[in-house]
Amino acid sequence: MRIVDCHVHTVDGITDAAAILNAMDRNGLTRMLVMSKLERNSLQQTRRNLLDTKKLCDAAPDRLSGLAWLEPTLPGMGGLAREALCDLDFAGIKIIPDHWYATEPRLEPWWELMHELKAGILFHTGILYGHEDGSRFCQPVYLEKLLHYPNIRFAMAHISWPWCDECLAVMGRMRAVGNPQWQSYIDMTPGTPAYIRKQAIANAISFCGVERLMFGSDSVIPSDLKHQGELVKRDGALFDELGLSAAQKERLFSGTAEELFPPRG
Ligand SMILES: [Zn+2]
Repeated sequence: MRIVDCHVHTVDGITDAAAILNAMDRNGLTRMLVMSKLERNSLQQTRRNLLDTKKLCDAAPDRLSGLAWLEPTLPGMGGLAREALCDLDFAGIKIIPDHWYATEPRLEPWWELMHELKAGILFHTGILYGHEDGSRFCQPVYLEKLLHYPNIRFAMAHISWPWCDECLAVMGRMRAVGNPQWQSYIDMTPGTPAYIRKQAIANAISFCGVERLMFGSDSVIPSDLKHQGELVKRDGALFDELGLSAAQKERLFSGTAEELFPPRG
C-alpha cells in the first residue's frame, strides 16, 4: 500500500536525505510532504528556509515534496509564493493564521494570488500549541472566505480539534458551493485526543467520504521518524476497526494527499 504523510515539519540543518529515506523505508512510507521551517518576521529568512527544504527534496523528488510555510502578511510574500510554486517546485503552501483572520480585507490580494496560482494550501486549524494566544484565529469557519477564490484547494489540519464539527460544517458548506470543484479537504494529523479520535474520523468519513481525508503524522525531521511509524500502525488499526476496505484505506493513506499535493516539476 502506498503511504504518504502530508504533515512533516523540519528543523534547522537538514542535510542527510539518506537517513530520512531509510527511516521512511522502515515505516513503509512512499512519500512525505515536508514543510519548510516557520519564519514569522523576515522575508529573507523565509526564502533561506525554502531553499533548505528544496535542497532536501531535490535529493529524492519522487519521495520528498515541499510545502512552503509562508506568512502572508509579510511585505513581499506574494513574490516568494510565486517563486516557491512556479520555480522551486513546492507542491503547496502551509499557513497558520497568525493573529489575523482569513476574512480580513487586507488578505484579499493574497487569496487572489493563491487563486491565480491554483495553490493547494495546508492550514493549521484547531487549538494551537504556540504563537502565544493564537488559537482563535485558527477556527475553521473563517476559511469559508475561500469560496470567493475557487481555484484554491485547501486542507484543514488536525480535523480542527476541538472544532471537529465546525470543520465538517465547513466541508459541507464548501461541498454545497460546488465552485465547480469541492475545494476543501481534511488532514487527520493528530491533535484529537484518544478518547475522541475514532469517533472524529468515523464522523468525517461518514459526512465527507474517504476521498476528502488524508493521513498525516506531525513528525519532525531530522529524526528517526519513530512517531510516524507508530501512527501508521495506530491509524491503520483504527481504519480496520471502522471496517474500511483496502481501497478506502489506500485513499486515506495516500490517494487524497496525492490528489491535493501532487509532485511538481
Ligand atoms: Zn504540524
